[in-house]
Amino acid sequence: CGIVGYIGNKDAKEILLKGLEKLEYRGYDSAGIAVLNEEGVHLFKEKGRIADLRFIVNEQVKANVGIGHTRWATHGKPSKVNAHPHQSATGRFTIVHNGVIENYEQLKAEYLSDISLKSDTDTEVVVQLVEKFVNDGYAVQEAFQKTLKILKGSYALALLDEENKDVIYVAKNKSPLLVGLGDGFNVVASDALAMLQVTKEFLELMDQEMVIVTRENVEIFDLDGRKVERKPFIAELDA
Ligand code: GLU
Repeated sequence: CGIVGYIGNKDAKEILLKGLEKLEYRGYDSAGIAVLNEEGVHLFKEKGRIADLRFIVNEQVKANVGIGHTRWATHGKPSKVNAHPHQSATGRFTIVHNGVIENYEQLKAEYLSDISLKSDTDTEVVVQLVEKFVNDGYAVQEAFQKTLKILKGSYALALLDEENKDVIYVAKNKSPLLVGLGDGFNVVASDALAMLQVTKEFLELMDQEMVIVTRENVEIFDLDGRKVERKPFIAELDA
């Protein structure tokens, strides 16, 4: 299981697929990517190998922001529907998740009783909560932060907002996640290996941190919205 993300000016889908291939060693049962351009989100997911995913990815779709995932199913059987990325009710928000949301049943009962979920995963609750809080009037960053505060369990998360092509929202708790730094682009990965193809410079994330990743900037916050400073490190590994 693993996560990748890219925001820059190159074709995102090839960087994401290559990154997912580097994470195959961790084991997985399905895989998917979502890329975002002027037309909106383009979602591709499949049970099976990255090679099967490559087969269904539309070569014509050009986008320079996206997220990708390999899934090791914990809640909901391995299937195309349960594969990540998952989307909110309106399709505005798209998420990938590694880990386990332990209180997803309670969260569903407490906040999402009027929404019919599309998958059997614990993950879908997270993306539906973000949209619910945005519908309640919160700005996206606040809605994401509010969601993270009520999650119990482990997560590495990357979130896309169809209405903002310039940001990947990221968060981590008890599941590995790094942000990779580039010149005019930035990336997200559960393991530096996945992104050595584009950078060797990474920021380590700590538990209960939220990150706003744009092409030019990476801003880390704690769950109360306070800014956190972090120095990058150089990954001394061979691609
Ligand atoms: N718990 C999530 C699921 O079953 C994520 C699993 C993973 O880490 O790949 O879909």
